[in-house]
This record gives sequence, structure tokens and C-alpha cells, in this order.
Amino acid sequence: MLLTKTNYLVFKECPQNAWVKIFRPEIYQSKQISDFDKMIMESGNQIDELARELFPGGILIEDRKDIHTTKKLVDKKEKIIYQPVFYTDKFEAIADMLVWNDNKNAYDIYEVKSTNSGKNKSKHIDEYKHDLAFQVNVLKELAVPINNTYIIRLNSEYVRQEKLDIKELLIIEDFTDEVMGIVDIVLDEMNSAYDSLKLENKPQGYCSCIRKGRSAHCISFDYLNPEIPEYSVHDIARIGNSKKKLSELIDRKIYSIFDVPSGFELSDIQRNQVDVAHSKKIIIDKEKLANFFSDIEYPISFLDYETFPSAIPRFVGYSPYNQIPFQFSLHILQSQDSELEHFEFLYIDKNNPDLAFINELKKYLPENGSIIVWNKTFESGINEKLSKRHEEHLSYMENVNSRIVDLEVPFTSQFYIHPEFSGKTSIKKILPALAPEFSHKVLNIQEGGTASDTWNKIVSGEFDEKGIKEKSKDLLEYCKLDTLAMFEIWKHCMKQLED
Ligand code: SF4
Repeated sequence: MLLTKTNYLVFKECPQNAWVKIFRPEIYQSKQISDFDKMIMESGNQIDELARELFPGGILIEDRKDIHTTKKLVDKKEKIIYQPVFYTDKFEAIADMLVWNDNKNAYDIYEVKSTNSGKNKSKHIDEYKHDLAFQVNVLKELAVPINNTYIIRLNSEYVRQEKLDIKELLIIEDFTDEVMGIVDIVLDEMNSAYDSLKLENKPQGYCSCIRKGRSAHCISFDYLNPEIPEYSVHDIARIGNSKKKLSELIDRKIYSIFDVPSGFELSDIQRNQVDVAHSKKIIIDKEKLANFFSDIEYPISFLDYETFPSAIPRFVGYSPYNQIPFQFSLHILQSQDSELEHFEFLYIDKNNPDLAFINELKKYLPENGSIIVWNKTFESGINEKLSKRHEEHLSYMENVNSRIVDLEVPFTSQFYIHPEFSGKTSIKKILPALAPEFSHKVLNIQEGGTASDTWNKIVSGEFDEKGIKEKSKDLLEYCKLDTLAMFEIWKHCMKQLED
């Protein structure tokens, strides 16, 4: 077995997960990689290729096992090598770029990351140091002379002008001192990871995440902890922040949410969730619910945006990972007795959709009344960015944002709790419980990540005319269901208040 750099980094995060990755790949890969995840990986590849333009004219090692070509090139001190491959008896490393430094008579290592730069990325920084130190150790063992080590990543401050400026977009950070300071420690870690991952025996006992909330669990959790039921104590709201309580439940072997004793100390929100799970009864705080809805004014607009986060800014005014708003759906209820109206917008041209998006919004969105969205931070944030890029629309966007009401709030605040919510508040969890006749499951596109990816494929020319028509229809249906869902959830809540 050769320990790859990736497997070492996974091991460093969690030895059990690394074991599952190597010996039970079918489990590790059982959570199908979503189209959105594939798109993120694709972005990583694009950034890799872009970074090569900082050091043009290099030779690419195309085959990820081609140690022989790598060796030949390194032996003759080839100036720039992309994706060189190195094996020792125990380890395998592929660097993103090696650049020969004539002054030092040694190679500089460049590792390209698709993350944004920024001060609060300490988790990434630690991973980058270990990533580079792994490479240094492998290259040292093979007697490849090493000088400095660098990380290349996206400059979060960069704002694109007409032409993409790669030297401004990508920043090169010198990690040499930090990396050289830990190479010996990392070598010990690499050896112990290698020794541990040679063993085919499944790790015994629960994994350490047994004492962490659901959001901390990885894909291997269910496999490593088969006694833990699907709806477990890990799903209790914010239980990850109440380590003592979760540990007590685990120590007492109380795993199912249905087994939590009535006297067990929990916060009000946690207790409500557990009680609803036990009783299977709905709890509605009518006073708070009525108070929340009393602020909503006609005409009521139900609005939802679809966006694409482009790692490499595509248009003027965009920074790395800014969301491109390409679609909206809008249902409008003018008054209590009127029919529900529907308007929609989908932009599938290759150029910047910003102005078309704003103009269509201005055309259809009523000038007054409440605007209902699900998770206000998202739509408000898109509006803020739009008005930053197009200052002439600032006051319009500020007005839109001032009228936004977040329909998720009654559920996050537990004015309404349903046993089928299972402690979650996503629209996809709330809709089937309150309006079971509607479901995202019947649609070709069922979640936002796939919508993003589908739009990207359309504008990247991956479909023929027929494909574009079909995919556009799927996008329109998906977004329309989200605003219809908000209307149905709102209608359902109003009905509860009447009864
Ligand atoms: S759930 Fe946590 S402890 Fe268990 S394998 Fe995953 S990361 Fe490791």
C-alpha cells in the first residue's frame, strides 16, 4: 500500500474515516457525489490550469502514475513541471507545480487551492502546511532538492474588470518557514498513519463523533456506529453545543431521540423537539404565529432566487465565488380574494445576467407589500451584491430588502413544530409535512446545487437546442415549486390561525 497525500490528510482529520476510505470505498463513496460537488471539483481543476499561466511553458505529467517521466524531468532540472508524480516505498505525492530556482539550485513547490484567501481560515492553513510538508518529506527521501514552498489561492479582494487579471486573482503565499518547522513532526505522523492504515481490521468501538452533533458526522458514521438509529439524540437541536448533555445520553446508552427520558434536562427548544417526537403531536404557539404573520401586508409576493457561485469571476464587478443570479420565481397574491399569479425569469445567455435580472424584478415585483422568502440572508445578500455592482439600483434594492419577510422564522423559532420536521427547518422538510400533495421528489431537479450546475452546463454549451429546452423547463419547474411551496406553507399556517 502507498499512502497518498490525500489519505494522509484524511487520516490526520480522522483515522477511522481514512480506514473506511481505504478499506470500504463502497461505503465512503456511497453518498453519491452530487452534480454540485462535481462542479466544485471542476472549479478546482480550472483554478489549477489558470495558476499554470503564472508559470507558463511547463511540462504536464498527464498520467497520475507516471513516476518515470517525472524522474527524467527532475534529473535534468526541467524548469517547470506541472503535476509531477513521486513514489517512495510507503508514500505517494503529486505536486501541483515544481519550479526550478537557479539561484538556490533547487525546486520551489507550488500547491494550488481553490479556496478564497482571508484571515479566518486557520483550519485551511493547518491543512496546507501539512499538505506541503508531506510533499517535502517525499521529495527529500527521493533526494529532490527543495527550496521554498508556496500556496496559490484565490484573492477574495479581487474584483474583476473587463479582462480577467490572473496576477491579481491568484495570490502566492510563502509557507516555507511554517512548513520547514513541522516537516519532522509530519514525517512521524506519515509513518504512524502508514502503519495504522496497513491493518485491515476494522477500527473497534464507536467513533469519536458519537459525542458530537449530527452536523459534525461524516459519511462513515452510520457504518462505524450501526447501533445509532436514523433519528438519534445527535439530531436534537444544537445538541452539538451541549457536549455535557450529549455525553450523558451516550454514557447512559440512550441513542434514539424517542428514548430520551422526560426528566432529562434540555433547553426549551430541545425539549419541544423531543416531546413532539415522543407524542407525535403537533405543537402550535398560535399567539406567536399570529404575531409573526400580522406584519405581512398585501400584495404578498413569494420570491425565490437561483444562483451560481463562480470560483473564477466571470463578469465585471464579480469577486471569487460571488453568486451569479440567473433565475427567479415569483408568486403574487394581490389580496385575500384574488387568484395566485405567477411570474418567472431565467437567463440562459452567456453574458452577465445582472441587469436583466434587476429589470425583470422591477417589472413584476409589486412596489409595495411584503416579500416572503425562505432564509432571508440569501436573497437579501444577493440584492446587496447586485446593488453594489449596479449602484444606480441601490435604492430599489434597499426597498426590496426592507420588505422581505423570512418564512423560515416561525419554524426555526418553534412557533410551529411537527413530528415530521424531525427537528429540521428546510423548505424540503416542511413542505411535505404541511402540504403533502406537493413534493420536490417528482421533479427532475430536486435541489439548488443541481439547479446551479444545470444552468452552468447550459451556458457552457454542454447541451444542444433540445437539451437546453428540456433543462430550462426543469429549472423553471424547480424554482416555481419553491415559491408555490412558500405560498402553500403560508396558507396552511393562516388556516391554523383561523381554526
Ligand atoms: S463520524 Fe467523525 S469520528 Fe466518525 S469517522 Fe466520521 S469524522 Fe471520524
